[in-house]
Amino acid sequence: MNEDSGNAPVIDGDEILEGVLRWVEIESPSHDGAAVNRMVDHVEEGLAVLGLTVERTPGRDGFGDILTAKTPWGHDGGGDQPGILVLSHLDTVHPIGTKEGPNPIRREGDKVYGPGIYDMKAGAYVAFYAMRHIIRSGEETPLPVTFMYIPEEEVGSPTSRDMIVEAAKKNKYVLVTEPAREGGKIVTARNGRLQYRLKVTGRPAHAGSRHMDGRNAIIEMARQILRLEELTDYEAETTCSVGTIAGGTMTNVVPHECEVTVDLRVPNVEAQQKILDFFDALQPFDPDCRLEVEGGVDRPPYDKFDGIEQLFQHAKGIAAEIGFELQDLKTGGGSDGNFTGALGIPTLDGLGADGHGAHSYDEFITFSSLAERAKLMLGLLRTLK
Ligand SMILES: [Zn+2]
Repeated sequence: MNEDSGNAPVIDGDEILEGVLRWVEIESPSHDGAAVNRMVDHVEEGLAVLGLTVERTPGRDGFGDILTAKTPWGHDGGGDQPGILVLSHLDTVHPIGTKEGPNPIRREGDKVYGPGIYDMKAGAYVAFYAMRHIIRSGEETPLPVTFMYIPEEEVGSPTSRDMIVEAAKKNKYVLVTEPAREGGKIVTARNGRLQYRLKVTGRPAHAGSRHMDGRNAIIEMARQILRLEELTDYEAETTCSVGTIAGGTMTNVVPHECEVTVDLRVPNVEAQQKILDFFDALQPFDPDCRLEVEGGVDRPPYDKFDGIEQLFQHAKGIAAEIGFELQDLKTGGGSDGNFTGALGIPTLDGLGADGHGAHSYDEFITFSSLAERAKLMLGLLRTLK
């Protein structure tokens, strides 16, 4: 028996895995709102059984619903006491059928495979499990806890980001259950992402007889692309990638339209501002071409500021008591933690299960990380004040 001996419930890896697999069984690709809502139904039921106050906000633009659940304590009297926001997403990048096809749900030694298990069904379930443990033990956390389940994180949370920001502002801390990195490291800083769409309109003409009348939109765009790619500076951690291109109609027509989409990553707000200014000032090389620019910040960057460092040190102490060394890192990828970290709210991300292969068919978690992570989450919920 461990510290939970007696009649108190025990943190049990097998029990956690059972719950995780039930969540993985319900496939929930971001763009399939009905599928995500089947997942939402299941989680909503679980939260209600725990006695949490559940609110379900209908999804829009074809996405699933947003689920919010609050502990019965700390939220009374109308004036919410600032507490802990636990952020998870219920969508995955994998289409329905992945569990019967390229990544069947299975266990091989310590590795447990399945679509979305690592990013982030396991992490989301672990946080749920930690709260269930608290309630089963008859405890209350010092701070009120709000859980938020996002239906479309994998496509940038277009319909939920305002609610995330609103909820974060009402809380002292944000814990994000995205997967752990590189052997259990958590995330304490994230690069930001910007996204743009550029469209050039030139002038069509017969490519043979009236070539001189044409204004080639592809040529104009090609010049723009070369200028864009110069934004990449690996040392400064800024990258620019033109990801898609479309233009022209027929080989014998001087093309009159060309369009590209662009992905940019920045390490901090200064670098972000440079990119915003750059796109604001963008002009066509050929004055006879029109250039339209659309886009901006997708997810803002955040650094490991003092509040995050303190929160990390606190988590490190809890991990040491559990018996492992907690390390942190900065990552290039984005998550909903970007919104909350950029607001200056102490945010710990990557609290989910350890594993590998996010967004791939080799996606797995390690079974051994489940109990460890549940204990870490439990420790945070129990001690944050
Ligand atoms: Zn994720």
